[in-house]
Amino acid sequence: MTGMDGRILVTGGAGFIGSHLCERLVQRGHDVLCVDNYFTGSRANIAHLLGDPRFEAMRHDVTFPLYVEVDRIFNLACPASPVHYQRDPVQTTKTSVHGAINMLGLAKRTRARILQASTSEVYGDPTEHPQRESYWGNVNPIGTRACYDEGKRCAETLFFDYHRQHGLEVKVARIFNTYGPRMHPADGRVVSNFIVQALRGEPITIYGDGGQTRSFCYVDDLVEGLLRFIETPAEVCGPLNLGNPAEFTIRELAELVLRLTGSRSRLEFRPLPADDPRQRRPDIDRAKALLDGWAPVTPLAEGLARTVDYFRRTLGLGPASTTITMPSRVRTAPALGMGGAATAEAPSTGGGD
Ligand code: NAD
Ligand code: UDP
Repeated sequence: MTGMDGRILVTGGAGFIGSHLCERLVQRGHDVLCVDNYFTGSRANIAHLLGDPRFEAMRHDVTFPLYVEVDRIFNLACPASPVHYQRDPVQTTKTSVHGAINMLGLAKRTRARILQASTSEVYGDPTEHPQRESYWGNVNPIGTRACYDEGKRCAETLFFDYHRQHGLEVKVARIFNTYGPRMHPADGRVVSNFIVQALRGEPITIYGDGGQTRSFCYVDDLVEGLLRFIETPAEVCGPLNLGNPAEFTIRELAELVLRLTGSRSRLEFRPLPADDPRQRRPDIDRAKALLDGWAPVTPLAEGLARTVDYFRRTLGLGPASTTITMPSRVRTAPALGMGGAATAEAPSTGGGD
């Protein structure tokens, strides 16, 4: 297959990143099969695509084998936020590991090219900064984040072993913190938490002193990187960092969100969750070189403004000064393991939207 002429499978296609990827693929005229068990994704994320003859959605859990005919696979299925992936940690590891085995098996049978959505979490709490792909990481293998971090590390191992052993065309993308419209409002991630809190006029929950850093990539920029990566020559397997190298402290993020929303929420400091990385910033030199000069183009303030608009619209949240009643399922997530006061409706396995 040259270019993306054939059928493209997106696992986790009803999730935050997956739905944007499906949308871009359909816009480009591709046939897309979206597979999802709706653990954290929702049909609402893909509702606008369902009438399109090029788009098909299938409820399926990737921890079970899948028999379909495809030419490209984007393997995104896995809960990504700490609140979601720590809810059922055994299932999280199974999704990464069994899911990788099943999707690699599918790729082997169909000779499809396959891309894995790996993560900056493979670097753990990094002792090297910024993180280059050559860095092996600093992960606690028995901590509360390990189900995700080690699951993703094992998936990377499987991808490279299938490449070496079976000659599969694999692409391993290490995705750094990505944000944008269609983030789950109760996923507990910092961007969604801060925006929803600011819009509701609730305290902004900063974990630790807010001095820890992250680098935030707008979802459109990330999707562009994924699309370019899967079309690189067969010998380009990665791993490849995809993210925005602009680094911010969590406190800076909170202040920016307050400014953009015009909110008068106060900052509330809470204990830092276990194994929370102190700093994170991708070195994207390799991606720039291999992906035709790819680099994120959306400044944080611009991407955040679009995300604020999204939450205002979809959650019916008016300006922060007005009194808002939130439905229980969109309350912000509690602080992890710290007995946070807020409550969140947890996602249910195979539940849905
Ligand atoms: P998300 O939770 O919105 O999407 C994950 C999707 O996978 C959801 O639709 C969920 O229902 C589905 N899913 C979960 N388990 C499944 C299973 N067993 N079978 C089938 N579907 C299943 O998260 P996201 O932010 O869109 O992340 C997508 C991918 O990108 C994940 O693999 C994640 O690890 C990776 N990633 C994301 C980020 C980020 O900042 N968003 C950073 C690094 C890596
Ligand atoms: N964080 C925070 N307040 C929140 C949610 C998160 O201060 O309400 C912090 C969290 O402790 C971490 C950073 O923001 O240091 C990013 O957290 P997130 O869960 O978004 O992503 P990850 O830790 O996986 O990078």
